[in-house]
Amino acid sequence: MGRYKVVEKFVSINGEARCAGELACFIRFAGCNLNCAYCDTRWANEKNAPYEILSEEEIYGYIKETNVRNVTLTGGEPLLQDNIKRLITLLSKDKSLRIEIETNGAVDLKDYRDIGDNVTFTIDYKLPGSGMEAAMCLDNFENIRSIDTVKFVASDYEDLLKTKEIVDRYELDKKSMVYISACFGKIKNEDIVKFMIDNNMNMVRLQLQIHKYIWSPDKKGV
Ligand code: SF4
Repeated sequence: MGRYKVVEKFVSINGEARCAGELACFIRFAGCNLNCAYCDTRWANEKNAPYEILSEEEIYGYIKETNVRNVTLTGGEPLLQDNIKRLITLLSKDKSLRIEIETNGAVDLKDYRDIGDNVTFTIDYKLPGSGMEAAMCLDNFENIRSIDTVKFVASDYEDLLKTKEIVDRYELDKKSMVYISACFGKIKNEDIVKFMIDNNMNMVRLQLQIHKYIWSPDKKGV
């Protein structure tokens, strides 16, 4: 039986990616192997962050109680939890669930290639503005599935240039969904749109992190 460190579990709307605007059941795990300049969940990564220890059956039970179909496993970095594949496998057997795993791009996903198609990955590419670009596992982009998503959070023009370079190099716009979103307060959405127009980025989507427009940007549990 796996034992997972859960710092938050709640139902809200999905603020990002393919299911943005739909209800989702969030399970947020403690700990991260990165330290991004703009991290908005740093509290969950602290050594003394309060967490509860839950088994996979308890997590699955909570999800079913909520009656919500979309499940988001997030963090921190959820894939760092011991035995996390066991939890993902259990959830994937319930075909009524749609499971999204938000991963930071610094974990090799090769162990998850056999996972079912009701499990999708939203993979960050940490741009220079994050300070964490050197940790990116680029092999993930060689084997990305069409149902997966790559997310770029841009802080400035240099980040936008790097986004285009990575999208082009790995043909991510042809292989998967690609989103660019603004690092909140650092770059204007209209500047991202202008960059997309100027660079003919047809298959790339601007993403607004809608939970930050509904609630205060630093509000927890939403
Ligand atoms: S990967 Fe996510 S949780 Fe980890 S430091 Fe970066 S923004 Fe924070």
